[in-house]
Amino acid sequence: MSGRPARRSGTEATLRALPSIDRILRAEPLASLAPAAPRSVLLAAARAAVAAARANLRAAGAAPPDAAAIASDAARRAAEAMRPRLRGVINATGIVLHTNLGRAPLAPEALQAVAETAGGYSNLEFDLDRGIRGSRMAHLESLLRELLGAPAALVVNNNAAAMILALNTLAAGKETIVSRGELVEIGGSFRIPEILERAGTRLREIGTTNKTRLEDYERAVGKETGALLRVHTSNFAIVGFSSHVARGDLVRLARRRRLPLVEDVGSGALIDVARFGLGEEPLAARALQEGVSLVTASADKLLGGPQAGILAGTKSLIASLRSNPLTRALRVDKMTLAALEATLRLYRDPERAAAAVPVLRMLGEPAAAVRARARRALRLLGAERAVRAGAEVVACVGEVGGGALPLARIPSFALSLRPVRGRVGDMARALRSGPEPVLGRVESNRLLLDMRTVAPREVPRLVAALAAALDRES
Ligand SMILES: *Cc1c(COP(=O)(O)O)cnc(C)c1O
Repeated sequence: MSGRPARRSGTEATLRALPSIDRILRAEPLASLAPAAPRSVLLAAARAAVAAARANLRAAGAAPPDAAAIASDAARRAAEAMRPRLRGVINATGIVLHTNLGRAPLAPEALQAVAETAGGYSNLEFDLDRGIRGSRMAHLESLLRELLGAPAALVVNNNAAAMILALNTLAAGKETIVSRGELVEIGGSFRIPEILERAGTRLREIGTTNKTRLEDYERAVGKETGALLRVHTSNFAIVGFSSHVARGDLVRLARRRRLPLVEDVGSGALIDVARFGLGEEPLAARALQEGVSLVTASADKLLGGPQAGILAGTKSLIASLRSNPLTRALRVDKMTLAALEATLRLYRDPERAAAAVPVLRMLGEPAAAVRARARRALRLLGAERAVRAGAEVVACVGEVGGGALPLARIPSFALSLRPVRGRVGDMARALRSGPEPVLGRVESNRLLLDMRTVAPREVPRLVAALAAALDRES
């Protein structure tokens, strides 16, 4: 028992010997961060580093670290605090529309439009010809009318907002008829029944999960009906004993009963993606042409634009949506409008869109070109590191993602890693947490870096991140 007080006072003495915050602030490498980092950040980092050293000492009772060691810990903390929290990552998952990674990357034309209009003033709500107040929707509406063949259109924050606005305007206090086979959940937080509830309309479910017939709709239509709703079941497919009602039959029923037919087409594809050999996604233009009164779609899925929700349909329906006060609450910002207009302009020439919209370019790239990029990455990595990483080029299968074309499998190529030392999971974590985060996918005990979703200009950075992670590990 006699040893304990003596040891404690020994620790107290060591704790007192810890360098002061002031001294840490003057020590390198922290001191040289001073011009770039605000004093508050450096101070917080120095305090945290000293506190960590103190906690270490208390726990382990080791010799106190010197000022240089604490200052370099503080510098690491300061650099971390200075790094933007929202930042770019390299998507090597092979999932083209990855909702967690920001869905569609924008085309250079869209980025340029944002830079040109958002850094200064713009004619956002100003009619330059007449010198009076204008509408922020006017810029986009004519383009959407042209591309979708729609009499009128409106843009809001996302497809969820578009649905809420549509159903609230057309069917609040009334029933909205939906097939049970279309009561989908998309991305965890978008559930059709909940959206309907929040829009103030009552859900009238009809049919079953795998079969709904026209008679089911006919029986359900009545005095209480506000709208018929058709939802594209984007992220799943019922295969086998199933049937649903053709669009044309619903159009005729809606016309006969003078009811609006709303269709959520989901991905917002403006050109037929079957050309990429990926199966079919509904096209808003076709839905309108076949007589749907109002379509809603996302702008940041297969359309390849910024986050937004597109509503297109008859003049009178769009006019009533516009006069709903919710429209003001759901309106989009000038950056969104600039990016969306620039993206839509590319679609005036579908071939140009296929080449210039990043999402379409990735989906349409031949597998051989993806393989060439994987080989280039392997070459840049160098033989010695390639051996340590167990790196090779392998064939793999990517996905569209974003709840589009769930059954589509995209033939692709990846840089496959199976490190000689350490675990695959550790390698994945090291790549994720570096200064240039790279996200791959782990498959049968290999880390696959799928090159379909890695842009050519990103390859050197991906290889540098991989080299750094390998060198850190060893
Ligand atoms: C993705 C999707 C939504 C949600 O769209 P957001 O733009 O993310 O709000 C709604 N409906 C369908 C059918 C979808 O595929």
